[in-house]
Amino acid sequence: MPNPTPQPDSQPRDSRGEWRPEEPAGFVPLLTLPVRIKAMFGWLFGYGGYFWPTNMFFLLVSTAAWFYTQPPIETCTEFRWDWISHVFLRNQLLIWFYYGGLHLYLYVLKREGTRKKYNRKWPDEKSKRFLFGNQVWDNIFWTAGRAGIIWTTYEVIFVWLYANQLIPWLTWVDSPVLFLLWFFMIPLWREFYFYWVHRLTHWKPLYRYVHYLHHKNVNPNPWSGLAMHPVETTLYFSDVLIHLIVPSHPIHFLFALQYNGMAPAHGHSGFDGPIAEGTVTADSYFHYLHHKHFECNYGGSIIPLDKWFGSFRDGQPQGAGAALPEEQRD
Ligand SMILES: [Zn+2]
Ligand SMILES: [Zn+2]
Repeated sequence: MPNPTPQPDSQPRDSRGEWRPEEPAGFVPLLTLPVRIKAMFGWLFGYGGYFWPTNMFFLLVSTAAWFYTQPPIETCTEFRWDWISHVFLRNQLLIWFYYGGLHLYLYVLKREGTRKKYNRKWPDEKSKRFLFGNQVWDNIFWTAGRAGIIWTTYEVIFVWLYANQLIPWLTWVDSPVLFLLWFFMIPLWREFYFYWVHRLTHWKPLYRYVHYLHHKNVNPNPWSGLAMHPVETTLYFSDVLIHLIVPSHPIHFLFALQYNGMAPAHGHSGFDGPIAEGTVTADSYFHYLHHKHFECNYGGSIIPLDKWFGSFRDGQPQGAGAALPEEQRD
């Protein structure tokens, strides 16, 4: 593999070495006013929009996982180590493939250099803030280790519930409309739920004992995605509890769970997307600003909850949220 060609920044950096995209962080044209029908359809169906490529990629992964890697559901009526270890290993493969792949490309091979990297610095290799004195090793411990176990625990319990018909199981024949609607709604539900869980974890006592761990990563990298205290990881994945109530097929549940498990990798890439010559979306500026400033951008860029509740920051020196307080916490 040839060495990466150093590429110049397209925007100058500020005195702290921060790079800022020309476009401010903002919201997609779905729930913003005024309604722009053409832009909305462009975002829903165009490249880099709602369906394509990210959501379709996760849907493809979940569909393949269900048809080719899931233990037969009739064997999951009891908690047995054979199928549980199978699920655990499959999830580890997903983690290492997705988080590890992004990390390898951006941080080991450094194929993009520091071009469009928000913070010029690479992850800390000698810092007492992190386990093992190393940010990446710390993040891998929490993401692949602790979060990997919690992710699998959710999956094992739900698969067992589906197998024993203790929760409603929706089929395509029952309701094709609801069956398709689930796939559309899951990323929206996730973002809505995440906003509230995230705000909750900024409540001082929870921040101090739980959420502080994620915020050690002021300069995040893909492995920072699920580098969270186990209490936070459990809360974070709990949006899937909706499947206890609303009838769904296990494939919907897998899509929701794997989306939760994998999406934080690109959400914390530390780079402005798209990367790999414009082919891979890695949009993380909205959430990067949260890691940088702490008290803004709790949610995502689809549902403008931060705008409605006055915590939106667009990253421009004189732009939206520029007057929000700067809070640095340990
Ligand atoms: Zn984060
Ligand atoms: Zn936070």
